[in-house]
Amino acid sequence: MADTLSYLGVPLSRPRVAFFELTSCEGCQLQIFNNEASLLDFLSLVEIVNFREAMTEKSDDYEIAFIEGSISRRDEVEKLKKIRRQAKVLVALGSCACFGGVNRLRNRFHDLDWVKKEVYGDFPVDTAEVQPLEAQVPVDLKIYGCPIKKEEVERVISNLVLGKAVTPPEYPVCMECKAHENLCLYELGEPCLGPITRAGCDAWCPDNRRGCWGCRGPAEEANVKELEKIMRRYHFSREIIIDRLECFGGFAAYVDKLRAPGRHTHG
Ligand code: SF4
Ligand code: SF4
Ligand code: SF4
Repeated sequence: MADTLSYLGVPLSRPRVAFFELTSCEGCQLQIFNNEASLLDFLSLVEIVNFREAMTEKSDDYEIAFIEGSISRRDEVEKLKKIRRQAKVLVALGSCACFGGVNRLRNRFHDLDWVKKEVYGDFPVDTAEVQPLEAQVPVDLKIYGCPIKKEEVERVISNLVLGKAVTPPEYPVCMECKAHENLCLYELGEPCLGPITRAGCDAWCPDNRRGCWGCRGPAEEANVKELEKIMRRYHFSREIIIDRLECFGGFAAYVDKLRAPGRHTHG
C-alpha cells in the first residue's frame, strides 16, 4: 500500500515533521513561513507536529526533525540527543546548526569567564563553547545558509517524500555569479569568498554588489589557501581575511591555522 512505503525510515505519505531551535535568531525558521507563494503546497506534503513559532500544539511523535541553531549550553545537548533518538532523519537547518554560525565568533575568546562577565555582568548564565550539531549527534542532512533559502527546505522535503536523493550543489558561488554575468567584485576592490563557498544561494550577495561572506560553508575541495593568496594579492590584510573567513564558522578549521600562534585573548 502506498501509505506504508518509506524512504530512510520516513513514510512517503505526509511524514510528521518537527521544527526545533537551539541558540539562534530564529531567522531560518521564519524563512519557511515567508514563502507564501508555495506554503500551502508545502504544507500539503507534510504534517507539521511541532513548530513553536507558528503553533501551540506539540508532539514528540515525528519522523523528520529540523533543528535551527548551534549548541551553546549543556541543556541544549540533552535536548538535541532526545530529538536524535526520536527522529529518523535529523536535518541541520542553517549555518548555526551546520557550523556554529555567527554564534561561533564567541569562540575567538579563550577566557569564557571574562566573556560572561562582560556580556552578562553579575547575572550568572550557563554558557559554553559554541558547537555545531554534529559535534554531539550524527546529522543526516544539512541545509546551508544564513538564513536558509526556503526553496531549499521545500526541495529537501519534496525529495524525501518522493524517495529521491538530496544533494546540495558542490560547486562554488562563483559559478552562479559568473552565470549571472556579474563583474567580479575583486575588480571593484571588495573581498569575496565566492571561489571557496558552496553555491545554492543563487549568488545572492554578489548579485547585489556585496562580497560573499561564506555563510554556506566550504564548497567541495575548496582551496582556501589559494584564495588567501588572491586576497593578499588584492592587498587585503590578514585581519580582513580572518574576519571574512571566520564570520559564519564554516572555515573555522582553516582560521585556527591562520591565526595560530597568537589567537585573541580578551582585551
Ligand atoms: S543561520 Fe543565520 S538566520 Fe539562521 S538562525 Fe543562525 S543566525 Fe539566524
Ligand atoms: S564577485 Fe565573488 S562570486 Fe562573483 S566571480 Fe568574483 S569572486 Fe566569484
Ligand atoms: S553569497 Fe555567500 S554570504 Fe551571500 S548568501 Fe551566498 S553563500 Fe551566503
